[in-house]
Amino acid sequence: MGAPLQGDLAVVTPSIASFIRTIPDHPKPGILFRDVSGLLEDPLGLRLAVDRITDHYMSSSIDFLAAIEARGFIFGAAVAYNLGVGFLPLRKKGKLPGEVIGVDYELEYGSDRLEIQTQRMQPGARVLLVDDLIATGGTADAAIELIHQSGGYVHSACFVIDLPDLGGSERIRSRGCDVFSLCQFDGH
Ligand code: AMP
Repeated sequence: MGAPLQGDLAVVTPSIASFIRTIPDHPKPGILFRDVSGLLEDPLGLRLAVDRITDHYMSSSIDFLAAIEARGFIFGAAVAYNLGVGFLPLRKKGKLPGEVIGVDYELEYGSDRLEIQTQRMQPGARVLLVDDLIATGGTADAAIELIHQSGGYVHSACFVIDLPDLGGSERIRSRGCDVFSLCQFDGH
């Protein structure tokens, strides 16, 4: 069988970045908000993102997937289902019932707190962390700290979008944690 001619029944897979809209000055002046809504509403986009993450971790040994509220839950739950591992929600302050531990952190715009229920995982559990985007890395750093305080070990952190110029992915790598992202945008 010959090589397919250019354009002859060729299926061109769009890039993940092509589904992301950039909205200036949201939620504050000066912020370029990278919006995943277009990726989520397009069935091909959502499938592409979830499949790429799943493929990347398919042969990794992972006990739990922990995702960060709120957009991390969307991608994280689908990937946890595909990988056949349990899902741990890392939630914003005051949302989780029962006994929790929390970590405060600084954001690109403001400050916040992440919490996890205590005794959700066995000591030494290998955890994959998922969020929609990494900017300064403050959120992911807090999430890793929280999982460590819970007795788990973050094997890798995965993001749909990386803004490498803000230094977050480097910050997480310098903690000895592997980082995987589906697309990157220059600047902030
Ligand atoms: P950071 O802690 O600075 O790495 O920020 C990451 C978190 O804030 C993620 O949960 C993102 O959803 C959100 N975030 C930060 N910057 C942006 C941005 N420019 N566009 C969209 N979401 C952002």
